[in-house]
This record gives sequence, C-alpha cells and structure tokens, in this order.
Amino acid sequence: MAETFDISLNSLAGRSAALQDLSSECAPALPQSQVKNGRAPQTAPFATATSPRSGATFFLETFGCQMNDHDSEKVAGVLLSRGYKQVESPDAASLVLYNTCSIREKAAQKVFSRLGEYRTKQAAGQVIGVLGCVAQQEGEEIFTRAPWVSLVCGSASYRKLPELLAQLEAGNPRVTGLETDTDETFETPVTRRDNPWRAYLTIIEGCDKACAYCVVPFTRGPERSRASDSVLKEVRELAELGYSEVQLLGQTVNSYADPSHRRMRFSELLLAVADVPGMRRVRFTTSHPRDFGADIVAALEAQPKLCNHVHLPVQSGSTKVLREMVRTYTRDEYLEKIAMLREARRPIAITTDVIVGFPGETERDFAETLGLLEEVRYDSLFSFKYSPRPNTPSLAMRDAISEEEKSRRLTVLQEKQREIQSQRNASLVNTRFEVLVSGKSRRENQWSGHTSCHRVINFTSQEQNLLGTYVHVLVTGAGPNSLVGEQVT
Ligand code: SAM
Ligand code: SF4
Repeated sequence: MAETFDISLNSLAGRSAALQDLSSECAPALPQSQVKNGRAPQTAPFATATSPRSGATFFLETFGCQMNDHDSEKVAGVLLSRGYKQVESPDAASLVLYNTCSIREKAAQKVFSRLGEYRTKQAAGQVIGVLGCVAQQEGEEIFTRAPWVSLVCGSASYRKLPELLAQLEAGNPRVTGLETDTDETFETPVTRRDNPWRAYLTIIEGCDKACAYCVVPFTRGPERSRASDSVLKEVRELAELGYSEVQLLGQTVNSYADPSHRRMRFSELLLAVADVPGMRRVRFTTSHPRDFGADIVAALEAQPKLCNHVHLPVQSGSTKVLREMVRTYTRDEYLEKIAMLREARRPIAITTDVIVGFPGETERDFAETLGLLEEVRYDSLFSFKYSPRPNTPSLAMRDAISEEEKSRRLTVLQEKQREIQSQRNASLVNTRFEVLVSGKSRRENQWSGHTSCHRVINFTSQEQNLLGTYVHVLVTGAGPNSLVGEQVT
C-alpha cells in the first residue's frame, strides 16, 4: 500500500521478519517470508484440531491492508482448528483462498488475474475461494466471471465462515457469505499469528464514515466495536503467549464505541491494554481526524508504553477537496489536531495518507496539499492516485483528472516527502532509541527492528539471539526511509 513509507504499515504483522537482508538502507520493514527464527508462528490457546478434514490442506494469499492480514490470521486459525494443514504453494493445497482488496482498481484486477491462473484447478479437485472486499463487492458475479470458484465470502460475513466451510466440506459446490447487516465482529478462539512478538488485534470493524471515494463502508459493512472485556482478555492471552507488542486495528480505530456496560472510551481502552502485564508496546491504526481528541494525546503523554506514533490520514490539504471528499473536517481543523500532537510532552511521530487527483482537484488545491506537507513535516506518508471505485459517490463526479496528471502529481508529492523525511531522519543522528529486534541479516552482526515511533533501524551488535528482545541503539546514519546505528548498553 505504501509508496514512500519505509515502515510499510501493511506488513507490520502477519508477515514476519527474521533473516531479513538488511543490505538495503531502504528495505521495507518486513519481508513476506515465513518466520524461521526459533519461535514458531503462534496459534492461540485452544487450537486443537477438531478435524472434519484431517489431511486437507489450504493455501491462503492475502492482498491489501493490515486488517486483511489479520483477518487472514483468523481464517487460518479457523482452518487449522478444523484439521487443515497450511501449505506454502497453491499447487499443494486442496483449498486455495484469496483474501482480497478492492480499495483501488488495480488491487481488484490483480485478484481476477490470479483467479485466471486457477481455471483448471477445480477439475483437478481443488476448491477455490474468494474472501474479503472483492468478494463483498462483486458477490455472486464472481461465479459468472470465474465459474471454477466455490466460495465467495465478504469481510463483513467472516463470522459465518465455519458454517460455510462445513457446507463446502459436505460437498456443496457453491457457498456464499455476503451479508453486511451484522452487528457482530469476527471473533474466533483460534488465531494463527505469523509474527511471534507483535500481534494485530481488531477492536472495531467496518466503517460508518462516508468518504466519497471509498469502498470500505460498502465492503466491510457498518461499524461494530468489540467489547472491551473481550479485547482485554485477548491482550492478556497474547502477553501469556510471549507477545510484547500489540497493534489495535480498525478502519477508524479511534471511533471505537465499547458495546459493553463498561462503555470504555478509546483512550481508556488504550491505557487498559498498556496496563496488561507483559505488554511493552501498544500501537493503533488507523485514526480518523474527526474523532481524534485531546484525551488520546493525554493518554499518549501519560503512558510511555503507548507508542509515540500516530497515523492520521489527511487525504488532501485543500478544504474544498476535503469537503468534496466528505472527510468531515477542514484543513484548519486537521491542523488543530496536529498542533495538539506537536504540543504533547513527548515527541510523537505523525504519518498520513494522501490521495492525489481527486475529481476537480486543481493545481491550486494540489499546491495546498504540498504546503500542508511542508507545514506538518510528516515522518512518513502513504500516497495514492485517486482510483474511481464502484458504488462510491465520487464515481459520478465530473472533472476527472487524467492518469498522466495524477502520476505527475504523485511524483511531485513523493519527492517533496522524500526531502522532508531525509531531513527529519538526519536530525536523529546521535540520538538513542529503544528497538524491538525483528530481523537478522545474513551479514554477521547486522540486525534490524522498529523504534516506538515506528522507524526502521538497521544496526550492528556483537550480541547473539537478539530476535524479539528490546535493545538500545545509537543512530549513526540516516536515509530517507530508515536509520542506521549500533547497539549501546
Ligand atoms: N480509514 C482510513 C482513513 O479514514 O483514513 C483509511 C482506510 S483506506 C483502507 C486506506 C487509504 O486508501 C485511505 O486513507 C486513502 O488514502 C486510500 N484510498 C481509499 N480509497 C481510495 C481510492 N478510491 N483511490 C485512491 N486511494 C484510496
Ligand atoms: Fe474509507 Fe473514509 Fe471509512 Fe476511511 S473513514 S475507511 S477512507 S470511508
């Protein structure tokens, strides 16, 4: 998803890190390889094989955001608990699943080209399934476009997945889960987490905002928050399993509304999660600017276990474009939130998302976005060319910007951000960071990890067995996308 963000938010967990080749200063945080680091991927406590399908195997490929990554971890958990074994290649699997993304057109196209490769597999006895946002968006149309598909289940219907799997196992050739009118979240006692130290945990699903360009409210359904007791119970279980970092997830994570009698606010939940013994770092993403209040900043100030990083997507620096996008805040209101963060008693890294080329975006609007980058000086940013999506209000908007112009604006934006990042990172030379070590290079004594402010740091150390531990690193060099350093005591 990221173009310029070194820390690749969408690869934070669910894709693991060890044996990372650290030769590139700009290497993304985590490669997609399996963890081979001495700690196996974790399956939550009650992962016993109840096994109507002993001997069956599955291959699961995930596209898109970290919520999809985490949904896939839960889907994998459900399958493992049914007796399936996970395999590394689709050819070796009896069940092939694609967990899909439809946020931009290209992402959706990729799914159909992948499905095309599976045209002949059904005849060979393999069962093909499509999960996630493309499944929700295209629905039964997928059976028409790819008749060899047997399962279509949208992200709002995952709680039905065990039932759908049972139907498939009983030989039903076509099963669907496409409802969005649920008020339940997808909770499963069995989650197969790929990253052994950092765990994703969804606290709110769906989205009730109505940004004019976005398919998420349609593909992921209405907002549903998970009860705070249930969240905290899972955090305690994660700590017992040895996780020390947790990332709370939601499309608008800070719109969290505790459905239980406790009625915990999001900021209270953050503090309660940080209080769980064994938890050392708590992250959260993505925050919507409208619901980002002073209480969250106060929580960040009060509790150092809450990581000093906030991802606060702005989308555009022009109030006119923000209004057209139905983002529900103006440029000035957004900047007030930034001021609150900048005034916090400890430095907080701020990252964002920007869309260029929204219909009607003039040169002047775009210049306002560049000006906003100068003003805020983000630590990193994800940038996207506007992509018209089905079922969204902006699809019908006039004054489309040409692809060529969108590409030009994207390049200009990314160059500006690269400059800012280079300067910000250079200013960190000679400072010290606590780092959670998550990668080991093939080169001797070379390691990598993340700071609390979510920067990637590649460093040298003479010590052994650092993976999963926290060390202190002195920054000795910096590039636009990462830092370089050496371990200090
Ligand atoms: N809920 C988050 C928020 O409000 O910022 C964002 C979730 S969305 C999965 C991630 C990012 O994708 C958005 O922040 C936006 O920048 C980008 N995005 C969404 N729809 C898009 C579209 N139609 N074209 C281009 N980028 C899009
Ligand atoms: Fe999409 Fe807007 Fe909801 Fe984010 S807040 S998921 S951009 S509709």
